[in-house]
Amino acid sequence: MYETIRGLILREVRYKESDRILTVLTDKEGKCTMKARGALRKSSKSAAATQMLTFSELTVFENKGRRTVSEGVILEGFPGLREDIASLALGTYFAEVLEAVSEEGMPDPLVLQLALNSLYALSNRLCDPVQIKACFELRLMCLIGYEPEVAGCAVCGESEVESPWLFLREGRLFCGKCRQPGALPLKPDTLAAMRHIVWSEPKRLFSFTLGKDALAELGALTERYLTEQLDRGFRSLDYWKSVRDI
Ligand SMILES: [Zn+2]
Repeated sequence: MYETIRGLILREVRYKESDRILTVLTDKEGKCTMKARGALRKSSKSAAATQMLTFSELTVFENKGRRTVSEGVILEGFPGLREDIASLALGTYFAEVLEAVSEEGMPDPLVLQLALNSLYALSNRLCDPVQIKACFELRLMCLIGYEPEVAGCAVCGESEVESPWLFLREGRLFCGKCRQPGALPLKPDTLAAMRHIVWSEPKRLFSFTLGKDALAELGALTERYLTEQLDRGFRSLDYWKSVRDI
């Protein structure tokens, strides 16, 4: 039986002479594994559409629960990612995180939309890559159930927090008076940016500006929030750090 599947290729692994095993984040079924037979041959009808970090419409044949891609069309290829090693490395980190948080049979259209918007922003250099990374990390955590409570102080409820402190592990905010051991000091601008990322419309996610120091603080914080909540590191993140300043 043939079906059409739209999805973002998160991973491609070479298999045998010319096949690819794909991990795909699909719109209807969540994470899926499928084989692209002969995808590495020159004459292949699926080579381009089964490349990592490509959003494609795939024609898939299913037999006894195994899926094989027969052909594919690229819907968005994010060409800018392939022109620059740091952008490609950051896109690869996004893919590794998405693979870690997605499950088979559990589609999440908002997560897929965030992934596509973040890769588009990166490919088209809509803003600083650190800002795109921070938006992706924090917004993703919100979508999968780890939204930090940034509206006001967790103790007194004050929302106009002049000297904010954040307890990262619990995602709780404190004012200077109520701060608790283990909380980290935060620039007010960084808090404003966090609130924007948590609350904004998807289309406006990347639309804010932040000074250099606050952006660096935001970037370190969202990364730590994601890795602490997921309780793991990412090889592709370490790799991005090693190439981003080249
Ligand atoms: Zn307080």
